Amino acid sequence: MARYTGPRCRLCRREGSKLFLKGDRCFSEKCAFERRSYAPGQHGKGRIKVSDYGIRLREKQRVRRIYGVKESQFRRYFEIADSQKGVTGTNLLVLLERRLDNVIYRLGFADSRSQARQLVKHGHFLVNGRRVDIPSFQVKVGDEIKVRDKSKDIVPIVQAIEAVARRGVPDWLELDAENKKGIVKAMPERSHITMPIQEQYIVEFYSK
Ligand code: SF4
Repeated sequence: MARYTGPRCRLCRREGSKLFLKGDRCFSEKCAFERRSYAPGQHGKGRIKVSDYGIRLREKQRVRRIYGVKESQFRRYFEIADSQKGVTGTNLLVLLERRLDNVIYRLGFADSRSQARQLVKHGHFLVNGRRVDIPSFQVKVGDEIKVRDKSKDIVPIVQAIEAVARRGVPDWLELDAENKKGIVKAMPERSHITMPIQEQYIVEFYSK
């Protein structure tokens, strides 16, 4: 399935929660979900009875959209998570958090994950001194992620670093804003993911 390219605020309204897809705008009064927190479309305001299957499907879609991952990739992550030791749902979230585009967003080098994905694809970042342009690249403990010297002054990165104070950097990462670099201090843990996610629904969705 192709990547969704339509209005992103519509996705938040569809999923019934803020997915933070538009950077600073999500923290402002311009947020579409704050103004119209019902589903889009003619029947959006109506009462809709959702089946057990529908609840699980929606949760899977919500998390997939938060991280901006295509269905086939998301399913692959699930299969890897399921084959790992530990709790499958937690493993899945950790795999998503370890994506390079997510780490760039978490460190505050981009305003949103979609912007981070774009910046990574355009080769603006080094991992351990080597250029990496693969958004799905999995970071590991000890990795150093740095903005390339020639990209340090580009507007989206400068603006994003100024705005990161609003959302903060999670404990498993360390940001050196002055030198525009970050270190992966530890593996992300479930407690680091503060968005309300019911990952057991995703496990149940794929395990049916
Ligand atoms: Fe979602 Fe609001 Fe951000 Fe739009 S502005 S993407 S509705 S959180």
